[in-house]
Amino acid sequence: MAWRCSGATNTALVDNLWRHGLISDPAVKEAFLSVDRAHYSPSLPYDDSPQAIGHAATISAPHMHASAVEHVLPYLLPSAAVPAPRALDVGSGSGYLTHVLAELVGERGMVVGLEHIAPLRDLGEANMGKSAEGRALLDAGRVRFRVGDGRMGLTEGARPGEEEGGTGWDVIHVGASAKEVHPQLLSQLKAPGW
Ligand code: SAH
Repeated sequence: MAWRCSGATNTALVDNLWRHGLISDPAVKEAFLSVDRAHYSPSLPYDDSPQAIGHAATISAPHMHASAVEHVLPYLLPSAAVPAPRALDVGSGSGYLTHVLAELVGERGMVVGLEHIAPLRDLGEANMGKSAEGRALLDAGRVRFRVGDGRMGLTEGARPGEEEGGTGWDVIHVGASAKEVHPQLLSQLKAPGW
């Protein structure tokens, strides 16, 4: 897909992902449009390809992020049953997907990026700090970045006033390669969940 969906601008990239059916939900398109990939990708940010971000890690290709978000969308969007969705992004790397997820969980929701490499945890947070929107998400506690081993999952307290949602996750996205399902991580996924 790389050659087909690349664009000269963030808008062109997202439009191409939409045109080729890699993004099919308008809410997802809106979320991708509102996050400039240039804040997260060190070179060729509007290419539909992975890019090195240091520490032998990459920011995944946009079409991969699009596919991941569309798969979990029903559990990301706030609803009467789940007004404040909680999402865990294991292997947050650049922080790009963490930001896109935050655009979808709504004002009461929360997304936590979990990284096992501390400088990459810091990179995700610093990248998010490049935009006013990203800084607002961090300041409001709607996005947090943590260091830890994703195989163990993460216990993260609720945002003030949202204790009803508990400490489990409505969505767990694993961006790190995993050879097996890790029971401790899985046990933190609410049901129904994804
Ligand atoms: N989703 C991110 C990064 C994808 S690369 C992005 O698109 O920018 C995979 C990331 O998973 C790397 O940053 C790597 O450091 C991290 N990772 C690998 N194993 C991990 C583990 N056990 N726990 C937490 N993070 C891990």
